[in-house]
Amino acid sequence: MQKAKAYSAASATSPLASSVIERRDPTANDVQIEILYCGVCHSDLHTVRNEWEAAMATIYPCVPGHEIVGRVTKVGSGVQNFKVGDLAAVGCMVDSDGACPACQDGLEQFCPGMVLTYNSPDKHTGGVTYGGYSDSIVVDEHFVLRVPENLDLAGAAPLLCAGITTYSPMRHWGVTKGKKVGVVGLGGLGHMGVKFAHALGAHTVVFTTSPSKTEDALRLGADEVVISRDANEMQKHAGSFDFILDAVAAEHDLNTYLNLLRRDGNLTLVGAPEKPLPVSAFGLIMGRRSLSGSLIGGIAETQEMLDFCGEHNITSDVEVIPIQKINEAYERMLKSDVKYRFSIDMASLKAE
Ligand code: NAP
Ligand code: ZN
Repeated sequence: MQKAKAYSAASATSPLASSVIERRDPTANDVQIEILYCGVCHSDLHTVRNEWEAAMATIYPCVPGHEIVGRVTKVGSGVQNFKVGDLAAVGCMVDSDGACPACQDGLEQFCPGMVLTYNSPDKHTGGVTYGGYSDSIVVDEHFVLRVPENLDLAGAAPLLCAGITTYSPMRHWGVTKGKKVGVVGLGGLGHMGVKFAHALGAHTVVFTTSPSKTEDALRLGADEVVISRDANEMQKHAGSFDFILDAVAAEHDLNTYLNLLRRDGNLTLVGAPEKPLPVSAFGLIMGRRSLSGSLIGGIAETQEMLDFCGEHNITSDVEVIPIQKINEAYERMLKSDVKYRFSIDMASLKAE
């Protein structure tokens, strides 16, 4: 075991604070990474505050962070694809059983034995997994991704969750040229959704509650922007969308969006609000519309997404912060005041 610096929460109501955690020494298949940047996902906030208690209660102390980019500092004897000095990235998962049908299909995120990067039981330490708000991490090489060299690292970190979570459902539901695609909520996930929908050639419409984000939405690649609180504006798009991606972190009305889908259109939820969202049967049965969800993406698809970003020069629009600003960043995230992802410069942890 070795010590690592981290920021952790001691309870659902405590702010994140400096702490020291233990990391395992790399085993044969492990890669040890010095973390350079870690994105700040709304899931970090949901978990730190135990807002998902019903589905996955938080174990404290909690070290969040699953948008990790860094440099390899050590590799185990059996590691094939990484060497010391390489750029490397880690997303939301660090292990799975490798044998179940989901793993065989490259969909490790749906494996019953999937281990999350933080807040999952850790078979190596007997404790809980600790995430990327830390100066280092040790991960099985199967769950370590390659970062295209041309990408800015602070902006690449959020690709590991916000990127793959929006890319995967768009690929699954056939977002392409000629399709009309909506993205609801211009936050960390939403702004990546806009970039991908645009890069995939779709006619892209952003739904936002923040009129002040209109210009940014157009700059990010939207063809149209709709202020979702304006019922008249919403009505103009009734029955017209092939696909809508909903990336909202709080309670909101899904039915207004179902009504915007055309026949056989799909609304995919990636946002995970704390409370259930009521759905009207008529919004679905009229027009054989479907409502579905999507969870991050498998490892192979995550690499595909990173390579796509390398080719198209896509990164997240980030506000780089020192770790000492993390509690303030959470408060701003709750006010939808992020443009469009916080990325922690982990060099700031050296001062602790
Ligand atoms: P975020 O940066 O906070 O963005 C959420 C956006 O939702 C806000 O910027 C805001 O956009 C909109 N919004 C906020 N409150 C709203 C309200 N009351 N009504 C309508 N819109 C509202 O969060 P994020 O990191 O992108 O994460 C979004 C959600 O996805 C979270 O619940 C997160 O846990 C979840 N998530 C899921 C997965 C998955 O695998 N499924 C992966 C990562 C994250 P506007 O200002 O444009 O309205
Ligand atoms: Zn996330």
